[in-house]
Amino acid sequence: MGNDKAANFVIERSEKPVSSDERVALLENPAFGRIFTDHMATIRYTEGRGWHEAKIQPRTAFELAPQTRVLHYAQEIFEGMKAYRLPDGGATLFRPEANARRLQNSARRLAMPSLPEQLFLESVRELVRADRDWIPTAEGSALYLRPFMIATEGALGMNPSSEYLYCVLASPVGSYFKGGSSAVTLWISENYTRAAPGGTGDAKCGGNYAASLAAQAEAIREGCDQVVFLDAVERRWVEELGVMNVFFVFDDDSIQTPPLTGTILPGITRDSLIVLARDLGLTVREEPYAIDQWQADAQSGKLREAFACGTAAVVTSIGKVKGRQRAFEIGNAETGPVTERLKTALLEVQQGRVEDRNSWLDRVF
Ligand SMILES: *Cc1c(COP(=O)(O)O)cnc(C)c1O
Repeated sequence: MGNDKAANFVIERSEKPVSSDERVALLENPAFGRIFTDHMATIRYTEGRGWHEAKIQPRTAFELAPQTRVLHYAQEIFEGMKAYRLPDGGATLFRPEANARRLQNSARRLAMPSLPEQLFLESVRELVRADRDWIPTAEGSALYLRPFMIATEGALGMNPSSEYLYCVLASPVGSYFKGGSSAVTLWISENYTRAAPGGTGDAKCGGNYAASLAAQAEAIREGCDQVVFLDAVERRWVEELGVMNVFFVFDDDSIQTPPLTGTILPGITRDSLIVLARDLGLTVREEPYAIDQWQADAQSGKLREAFACGTAAVVTSIGKVKGRQRAFEIGNAETGPVTERLKTALLEVQQGRVEDRNSWLDRVF
């Protein structure tokens, strides 16, 4: 077992990597988040000492005392990003500095230490290099990366932890576009909200997800695919889905997305699509959109398309919207031309098939 040293990382290679035959079989049709690579990145933090023990190591279970803080008070944050294959066989990350900064913002909100951007970038780059054979090559597939941080001090007092563990996992994921792109049906949650002003809506923390599971289960019971949340104060403004931001496309080729006022997660896909849409000559508004207006515009034809976006599923068109007292269709409930154009524009950049005009790619090898 050779230990090479990257700038800050000790690299401990797995002595029992998955065999190449088995790996090839696993990469054929991976379900989201079920298959993981041979290695993981870890860095420890201790108050007074700071960040230390940066490692790429064989992926293994953690040993945590039952009184570990994260298990009781959910002091946990995470990121989601992908490494993409390039046409020449290399691999690239997409805007990883944006993930580094968002993790720092989430850390601030959850009273956790800030991981320096350089350490974050090295952790994901080194993990992708160590597990380079795990990046799938099929069209639309990628290596999903899950950086996260947990409070590891073993004590139940109600104050921030003095110890933390940062870790990155890598998981090959298949294309979301198999068999064409079908539009999803959304359930408007009236019983639940996702985020209140002053809460943690703009932090990427596990607690937000735990709190949205009941709403998502309700959506499934109602025969829908995903839940869409309204604002917590007026129960009127469309905010976002459980895990994706939302866009509206109008008959004058303008597009609109709710503004980042603190209760919406600032998606990197959202931000990238705003830039790409403007590059394509579309007018983009970051303005609130009321649920009644959404229904009226869908019914009058002023609203032509709507879609959700995020790293995992990229761009997913919204075909129908249902709630307790309403149900409406958008366009002909299929993926519309503007949605398709934006999705293609984003994928072309991420897969290195067009010029990277905004310097979004971070080549790993
Ligand atoms: C992660 C996430 C998104 C999408 O963010 P991307 O950076 O585009 O992947 C949107 N909404 C919520 C609630 C999220 O957690």
